[in-house]
Amino acid sequence: MNSIQLLPIGTVDQSLLERLSKALTAEFIAGCEVLESAPEPSFALNMARQQYSSTEILASMTDRPVSAEARILAVTSVDLYIPILTFVFGEAQLNGRCAVVSTSRLRQEFYGLPANASLLVERLVKESVHELGHTLGISHCVNYECVMASSHAVELIDLKQRSFCRACRARALAFRK
Ligand code: ZN
Ligand code: ZN
Repeated sequence: MNSIQLLPIGTVDQSLLERLSKALTAEFIAGCEVLESAPEPSFALNMARQQYSSTEILASMTDRPVSAEARILAVTSVDLYIPILTFVFGEAQLNGRCAVVSTSRLRQEFYGLPANASLLVERLVKESVHELGHTLGISHCVNYECVMASSHAVELIDLKQRSFCRACRARALAFRK
């Protein structure tokens, strides 16, 4: 992987995207550009759940022309789900080119707490590195501090680092030719 394209879907705070872009550049040592926003993903809305299908959003991204060495990461503020779970923070194509993350449940406000901008950035960076890690073929890691640890709650995201453990980093580096 030599470049990352950030695709805002719907309304996403520009300064948040810029901070994410900088962090991803540092973590992956890859260029990172912010693309023009795509419209709200109404096609992926499940009316009964009032949530958006992350899998359908990923499918809608596969038509975008992206080189084999690039990854495209969608960032959205809508709440995402896959059928077997009540929600997901994000989803990625394992060994693929596309990933999507949601800021919805990374915000303190979602849990009835006061807003915390720096905590939101930190969580978004971790979730983004995690999903991009999946596109590099890295699966979940048993090290709870590794960014590839599976996280089903924000408390678990807060426990981990924004970077790969040694073993996962070796896998990520093996991918960067
Ligand atoms: Zn994962
Ligand atoms: Zn790891």
